[in-house]
Amino acid sequence: MNIILFGPPGAGKGTQAKNLEKKLNNFQVSTGDMLREEIKKESDIGKKIIDYMNEGKFVDDDIVNNLMRKIVFDPKKKNKLIFDGYPRTLEQAKNLDLLLESSNQKIDFIFFLNVNKETIVQRIKKRKIIEKRSDDDLNTTLKRYDTYMLTTKPVLEYYSSKPNFNEIDGALKITEITSKINDILGV
Ligand code: AMP
Repeated sequence: MNIILFGPPGAGKGTQAKNLEKKLNNFQVSTGDMLREEIKKESDIGKKIIDYMNEGKFVDDDIVNNLMRKIVFDPKKKNKLIFDGYPRTLEQAKNLDLLLESSNQKIDFIFFLNVNKETIVQRIKKRKIIEKRSDDDLNTTLKRYDTYMLTTKPVLEYYSSKPNFNEIDGALKITEITSKINDILGV
């Protein structure tokens, strides 16, 4: 079963991806993690993307699409993919369709974890008190939220008309989101 988790930063995609990974014995495919790994390795890609990532901007489609090709064609991961943070642009969504089609796979479920700006602000404020983080954290997150909403609008439109698209209220508790997802998957 291949699943896409879609939604703004702070919606809880990573947490749900980890739950599904355990439950289904699937693989979380987080482009954010993959890109951070490239930076850590100081690879050519890493050097190219570090400024984009630090500014909360999207990395070029070509770079992300190339990283994705290896994952989708990995026989170990076939029909066991949980996309977390990909696709984020229409070009990436179309690329994913092509990659899946040419590897005889499809997307079985799309979950849009929808969370508004106010909820994100409340979450960050709470975390700030608990973890003593700075205001930068709130500002960066809000910038990333705005970029995400603006750039991913066409992707949302692309997926929302599909029969396997499910919108879930990302403001719910983690456990509530998990059980809604599990219900829809029938697991
Ligand atoms: P994330 O961990 O998913 O929040 O991603 C962190 C950062 O990685 C984002 O702010 C982007 O700079 C970059 N990134 C992650 N996934 C993508 C993607 N699919 N397309 C472009 N940039 C991405």
